[in-house]
Amino acid sequence: MKKEDNILRDTHGRDHAYLRISLTERCNLRCFYCMPAEGIPLVPRSHLMTYEEIYEIAKTFVAHGVNKIRLTGGEPLVRKDIGLILEKLATLPVELSMTTNAVIVHKFIDLLKANRLNHINLSLDSLQKEKFKKITLRDNFDIVYENLLRLVDEGFKVKVNAVLMKGVNDDEIVDFIHLTKDLPVSVRFIEFMPFDGNRWDMSKLVSYASIMERLNAAFDPAEVERLQDAPNDTAKNYKIKGYKGSFAVISSVTNPFCDSCNRLRLTADGKLKNCLFSATESDLLTTFRKGGAIEPIIQKAVQSKFKVRAGMDDLEKLKEPELHGRNRSMIAIGG
Ligand code: SAM
Ligand code: SF4
Repeated sequence: MKKEDNILRDTHGRDHAYLRISLTERCNLRCFYCMPAEGIPLVPRSHLMTYEEIYEIAKTFVAHGVNKIRLTGGEPLVRKDIGLILEKLATLPVELSMTTNAVIVHKFIDLLKANRLNHINLSLDSLQKEKFKKITLRDNFDIVYENLLRLVDEGFKVKVNAVLMKGVNDDEIVDFIHLTKDLPVSVRFIEFMPFDGNRWDMSKLVSYASIMERLNAAFDPAEVERLQDAPNDTAKNYKIKGYKGSFAVISSVTNPFCDSCNRLRLTADGKLKNCLFSATESDLLTTFRKGGAIEPIIQKAVQSKFKVRAGMDDLEKLKEPELHGRNRSMIAIGG
């Protein structure tokens, strides 16, 4: 491929090999940090990509260098045609993964295995049943925890995503690290990020630095090992010596990892987002449905990607509600 044909390379020299596809805006939980309390207006079903459209659009990205696809949402497993979507995507030469709240994942173990989806990010923000209910507004802690153990048992590679919020679950940092003693999972502490309607403010953020403080108060520094991060990894990885699992911090707010960003996002209604923080979207589905070529639209979207966080290159800009409030809610972007 000639250099100028590389439609997934941006003007900062970053190649985008990782596509995250949101399958739905619907969800069986109501996490307050992800969606506004009043819910979001759902786009009509006819505006959502069908399973064939997901496959064809994904195939175009794969033809241009995407080698990793993560399915997300909303809750990807509530999509009725999840089986068909997986069967189609499994025919592409990519690593397939999924981010799920795991409330119903036990019903899909065989399907996931049959379609070689063995990397799962499971969202779990509290190890306490009552707190889980307060965060998600649903009483599903027991099944989610059971499913975490089940996935590990079944041989899936599991990462546990915990969004930390001050006064909500930051008292559980050490409990989450202890979870990795006997479970071979990677717990990832995610900094709370601002999106439309999620009542974000800087004072609720638990920063990378404060997570490290808690860690140092609970463990002898000699016990803590800094692991090698994978290329393009958004996480800074650690391990307590002798523990089966590991943990990491994803510091998108205080310490962005934009330099090595290789991600693009496709919303359930077929819009391409070149950055999680970007309010700008490029409509691929309308052109696709008219039989037009989507490559020029993809190329233009990639070319217009900012160097850092959709142009919010310092924390002051990120704090401006006017700037981040223009973005969709996380539930409609697909984390
Ligand atoms: N429903 C699935 C789940 O919860 O895993 C997939 C979609 S969810 C939007 C994807 C990820 O985004 C989850 O791990 C969730 O914790 C994270 N997320 C949602 N809102 C966030 C926010 N405001 N800041 C940081 N992460 C957020
Ligand atoms: Fe649903 Fe996931 Fe958002 Fe929670 S984080 S409301 S589970 S989409």
